[in-house]
Amino acid sequence: MATLVNSGELQFEFARRYFNEFVSVREELLRTLRTVETPALVMDLEGIKSRYVEIKYHLPEFNVYYAVKANDDIKVLSALSKMGSGFEVASAEELKKVLSLGVPPEKIISSNPIKPPEFIDYAYSVGVKRFAVDSFTEVEKIAKIAPRARVYVRVVVPNEGSEWPLSRKFGVDKDTALEILDYANRKGLVPIGLTFHVGSQCNNLRNWFIGIRDSAYIWQKALQKGIRMLVLNIGGGLPVRYIREALRVEDVAYYLRGLLRKYFPSQPYELQMEPGRGVVGDKGILVTRVIGKAKRGGENWIYLDTGVFNGLAEVLGGIRYPIYVEKEGDLKEWTVGGISCDSMDVIAKGVFLPEVEVGDRIYLLSAGAYTTVYGANFNGFPVPQVIAL
Ligand SMILES: *Cc1c(COP(=O)(O)O)cnc(C)c1O
Repeated sequence: MATLVNSGELQFEFARRYFNEFVSVREELLRTLRTVETPALVMDLEGIKSRYVEIKYHLPEFNVYYAVKANDDIKVLSALSKMGSGFEVASAEELKKVLSLGVPPEKIISSNPIKPPEFIDYAYSVGVKRFAVDSFTEVEKIAKIAPRARVYVRVVVPNEGSEWPLSRKFGVDKDTALEILDYANRKGLVPIGLTFHVGSQCNNLRNWFIGIRDSAYIWQKALQKGIRMLVLNIGGGLPVRYIREALRVEDVAYYLRGLLRKYFPSQPYELQMEPGRGVVGDKGILVTRVIGKAKRGGENWIYLDTGVFNGLAEVLGGIRYPIYVEKEGDLKEWTVGGISCDSMDVIAKGVFLPEVEVGDRIYLLSAGAYTTVYGANFNGFPVPQVIAL
């Protein structure tokens, strides 16, 4: 009789294959992962460039504006800029970084619908002219500070099935979107288009469907009012694999192209997308070390030299990183604790690994997005260094 492989073995095997695939391309990646001082986030720049090419190959009609907040390491930004990517920024700090690479301001947009006035002022003064809005107040603010700016309206779409939903914080319904476009026009701004965000790590194609369908409706209505728009921006949301496989770029692209053919038979002047996680998420491994072990009420605990306050905040929202160690042997179920004294600082539960000891390197896969950028020095422990190669 065939024996069922238990889910712990499957989980570890998945992580092993993932790790081997990651290091198989370049020997220096493996060497770095084995020797770098921990904690460290090792980013694969070649992998990032390949992902950019993959996105452009499957969605050639789109201009890519990489969402800098996902990972703002200067080498990551530089690699993307050399590939021809544009950038989506929200702060003066992000904008300065991108400009320092020689990126022309026409390749930079700002899609956070609520922006600090100082940022708008700075961005406009260096030539960034395109800003998202989703309120009358923002239109008034921009009209004062950046009188001839171009604005695009953020439309609300459902975030169901996104592992990091942006529920209700941003976006307006169709009628309000029309009113804002009209208001921007009257305030002397140039209403150029629409945007939406399906939620981060979106594995639900339906969200893109609603976004594009509703955008087409607003687009037509605006045209009837004499507002001819140019830009459709479909935001971010491209998923990457964590403990499960995710939709591939190819799958999302195929679906998107079908939707666009149906709802935008004459293609908008510019199609934009703003992937963050989808570009860098599975192109980074966080290398940590075991600093302690304990058995508590039947649970096996290991403690790592980083934690949720030093960059692993997304575990609090449900993200589960595949976890790997370069060891063999019978698997045990572990609870993985973070380095600080805070009881919320637990990185994962139900992780299957062989017996591990203090000093062993533990690899957190798919840690390229929303990790180091989230990190603080809580309890005096550092944010992991970023090594991009
Ligand atoms: C964060 C963000 C993105 C990137 O989202 P991902 O899910 O990482 O692709 C894109 N656009 C806007 C406006 C964002 O705030």
